[in-house]
Amino acid sequence: MKTGKAKRKKIIFKQLNFQKMTNLKSKSAQSGGNLEETKSKSSQNGSTLKGVKAKSDAAQGLHDLFVDGLKDIYWAEKELTKALPKMIKNASSDSLVEALKSHLEETKMQITRLEDVFSTIGEKVAAKKCEAMAGLTKEAEAIMEDTEHGVVRDAGIISGAQKIEHYEIATYGTLASFARVLGEDEAASLLEETLNEEKAADVKLSEISDSINVDAADEDDEENEKEKEKSNKLATSTKEK
Ligand code: FE
Ligand code: FE
Ligand code: FE
Ligand code: ZN
Repeated sequence: MKTGKAKRKKIIFKQLNFQKMTNLKSKSAQSGGNLEETKSKSSQNGSTLKGVKAKSDAAQGLHDLFVDGLKDIYWAEKELTKALPKMIKNASSDSLVEALKSHLEETKMQITRLEDVFSTIGEKVAAKKCEAMAGLTKEAEAIMEDTEHGVVRDAGIISGAQKIEHYEIATYGTLASFARVLGEDEAASLLEETLNEEKAADVKLSEISDSINVDAADEDDEENEKEKEKSNKLATSTKEK
């Protein structure tokens, strides 16, 4: 549903963009730079950058782009209900396990909330693979494989989890903003609610990492101490011989 306000905003956006473009044109004319010159320069560099060709089912406007974004994050949240249990199973610190468990419960609620968003804007609930979240969960798994169970792996799990939270924060921030300008205030409120949960989850992980990272660094010290002792012993035993 488009309100008059949303339409008016759209017109203002268009006017602003037009002004920007005219400003750019006059600036480049002043500096003597024209489009032809830029073109020949980039071909001199061997650069073959081209505009992306839109697919036949490309978004027809901001509403469509908004719905595409909802499908993407809906897939991502579902993916997280599979990835978070793996992280929980691999974490050893109680505070980290607790934080991940509570965010898993929150994530399930966020999925239901997204279904509400789809219905408030009159769209069918649908998921579309989020390549970014697929990559982020893969990376979190790789971090676990690259560490032994313990405090260092915990530090790695937090790093992976925070990358995920930051992706979600960026996504929900954008989607809430799209909803506002489209006049979808109810959807915007729901998305902002989730945005705040993601921000809180990120803050919580930062707090936990304060002590876990120190413990992980201490483990390095202990490891170095052991190495030193070993080489000292070796040195004495060779001397005695
Ligand atoms: Fe989430
Ligand atoms: Fe995505
Ligand atoms: Fe999350
Ligand atoms: Zn989240």
